Amino acid sequence: MGATPLAADPTVVTRFAPSPTGFLHIGGARTALFNLLYARHHGGKFLLRIEDTDRARSTQAAVDAILDGMRWLALDWDGEPVMQFERAPRHAEVAHSLLASGHAYKCFATADELEAMRAAQRAAKAPMRYDGRWRDRDPADGGDAPFVVRFRAPADGSTTIADRVQGDVTVANAELDDMVLLRSDGSPTYMLAVVVDDHDMGVTHVIRGDDHLNNAFRQLAMIKALQWPEPIYAHIPLIHGSDGTKLSKRHGALGVDAYRDTLGMLPEAVDNYLLKLGWGHGDDEFIDRAQATAWFDLGGIGRGAARFDLKKLEHVNGHYLRLADDGRLVDLIVPHIAALLGRPLTDVDRSVLQRGMSELKLRATDLDMLAASSLFYLRPRPIAMDAGAQKLLETDGAVLLVAAVRTALAGVEWTAAAIEAAVRDVADTAGVKLGKVAQPLRAAVTGSATSPGLFEVLELLGRDEALGRLDDMTLTKEPVA
Ligand code: GLU
Repeated sequence: MGATPLAADPTVVTRFAPSPTGFLHIGGARTALFNLLYARHHGGKFLLRIEDTDRARSTQAAVDAILDGMRWLALDWDGEPVMQFERAPRHAEVAHSLLASGHAYKCFATADELEAMRAAQRAAKAPMRYDGRWRDRDPADGGDAPFVVRFRAPADGSTTIADRVQGDVTVANAELDDMVLLRSDGSPTYMLAVVVDDHDMGVTHVIRGDDHLNNAFRQLAMIKALQWPEPIYAHIPLIHGSDGTKLSKRHGALGVDAYRDTLGMLPEAVDNYLLKLGWGHGDDEFIDRAQATAWFDLGGIGRGAARFDLKKLEHVNGHYLRLADDGRLVDLIVPHIAALLGRPLTDVDRSVLQRGMSELKLRATDLDMLAASSLFYLRPRPIAMDAGAQKLLETDGAVLLVAAVRTALAGVEWTAAAIEAAVRDVADTAGVKLGKVAQPLRAAVTGSATSPGLFEVLELLGRDEALGRLDDMTLTKEPVA
């Protein structure tokens, strides 16, 4: 992989702007990742804004879950998160400047009046939108009555957004209604807040889900009225489930914390998977953060909805498990193993896992699987036999061969090589292939028909434990002649 020089443009500023109404879901995490990579690729900044203006739905728990998920995935934002609600006075100030410049106006229509207007539109099957009844009226007519501040949207012509993903998208300005900027209690609306915050944060590139494309036209109209620099837009197609329908819990669309806590995924695997979910670089499947930073561009984002596929994620996770540092993996599975064993792990236990890890990790696609497949090292004697192991030990002559190994191993030096030589001798003497001995031996030692390399496992278990397990098997069973 050739190192692509970074397209240095330190003026690039992107942002992720989640609404804290639930966990950080994978669609959000992917949006954050794309913003991060774009900023890092250009040597710019990646900012975080918590859009907590919806007071009824925003919770501190959701803010914490979002920050936690972002930290876990190393979606490291620059500076402090901007809390949108705190900036309400600034939003109101901008609304008033639009009032002053004539780009906004006071609307004194009451809730009942607006309801009647909508009912009439419904009856006439006309588009449901504010009809501009106060647009050209003298605000003095409203007297002291409560009012909202509405944006004076351009009535004629059209607006085109040169979206970096969707291409040129044009909307007739007549489609844009005069949206509310300030409510009658003076509080800003979400649409106003986004425009003001993006401007004040110096955001140059708005990269977000394409469910916001419609909003972009309204936001751009405001930006033009304010004579602020227009950001570059990139609206990313949403993620669908593997069956092509909108992604839901049924498809595995959980909070990112569930990918860590329930599905046993590594963060770098989730990042790599999310990167590939809607962005491509040739046939490259495994792209780490450094490479992703070097390669990321908006042109590589696909226009079609990406399909979420848990099997693929597991495949990517298996790759990163194999690459991961052994000590880190031990740390990650220790709590799980302790829970399965019902006791805390000793230093000796950890050291056995650590030494076995380079082999153990080759076979797992998630941390639960890794923990489960490591468990045999630490299980108390006599270790439980699974069905496969039982079958192997019930084969004619199997226990006899294990007993012969037990005898042969009594005096050998306890290294994998010496153990292997002794086991081969037993097979030769019995006139059978190595597998005939190794399979029941593996079953007796690990309680399973599959395991890492048998001789390494025996060495790692240590002489006493290994021979004890063989005794458990051979002394309690009648040898089958
Ligand atoms: N707060 C919006 C959301 O969570 C994002 C708004 C934006 O990116 O402009 O969907």
